[in-house]
Amino acid sequence: MPSWNAMRLMLGQAISATAAWLASSAAACIVCGRAHGSHGGGQRAITGLCSSCTNAIPWITRIRCAICGRPEACPDCMRRDVTFFTASRSAVRYDETIREWLAQYKYRGNERLAPLLGRFLCSAYDRLIRELRQTYGDIRFEAVIPVPVSAERRMERGFNQAEQLSASVAVHAGLPLVHGLVRVRHSGKQSYKSRIDRIQDTKTLFAGEASVLEQFLRYRLSCTSSSIPLRLLLVDDIYTTGSTVNACAEAVTTALRRIEPSLSLELYVLTLARS
Ligand SMILES: [Zn+2]
Ligand SMILES: [Zn+2]
Repeated sequence: MPSWNAMRLMLGQAISATAAWLASSAAACIVCGRAHGSHGGGQRAITGLCSSCTNAIPWITRIRCAICGRPEACPDCMRRDVTFFTASRSAVRYDETIREWLAQYKYRGNERLAPLLGRFLCSAYDRLIRELRQTYGDIRFEAVIPVPVSAERRMERGFNQAEQLSASVAVHAGLPLVHGLVRVRHSGKQSYKSRIDRIQDTKTLFAGEASVLEQFLRYRLSCTSSSIPLRLLLVDDIYTTGSTVNACAEAVTTALRRIEPSLSLELYVLTLARS
């Protein structure tokens, strides 16, 4: 039998644990700051979000373009001369809600959004894997490569959002994060350019990081048969026309083929949002 004092201590601990639980269940939403309880209508509430923010997430659940995963008809993929990636998938649509959340995260330093957006990307990864396994059986990726930002952007923000998102997927999938790309130069604001200018401009923006890729290939050869195609996953925050990720895929392909000309390679792309 525990003594009365010990019982009081245990009771006190139980009460403060309950109080902490009640406080956390009425915590502020990490996006809109409104207090929220654990009961939300609509979808099952996502940890850290109130029910109205949870219900506002524009998940992409149905796709029409098999290449870029767009939910509607897709002229960009039809017009592209060479597509260096097999398929691209995104977690959500780039609507007003996601534009605002990404702005909070990228420009206004709301770092609490990082794990949340990371979870979005991980759910897109799970869906991509399920989709691929339905068609090709038990296939897997071997590494995650983040789309790099320029040194100027990194200085400005203090981080590369694609790198943080890549890290969430890498941990979730148990894959190495390989910094196999560099941004050769800084580009102006993409949104002010025409489609053709954008494609031309983007083509020369990235290069494979030869030493990193060579080291990765050497490591791979020590544990995997070279007859198995190397499947890599490129990660970025937003997919617009696909010119950025296509340029990245081209740069990785060129660099890897320079090291190992007969390499069998498949590149896939995962982005948080699809505009
Ligand atoms: Zn909210
Ligand atoms: Zn498409």
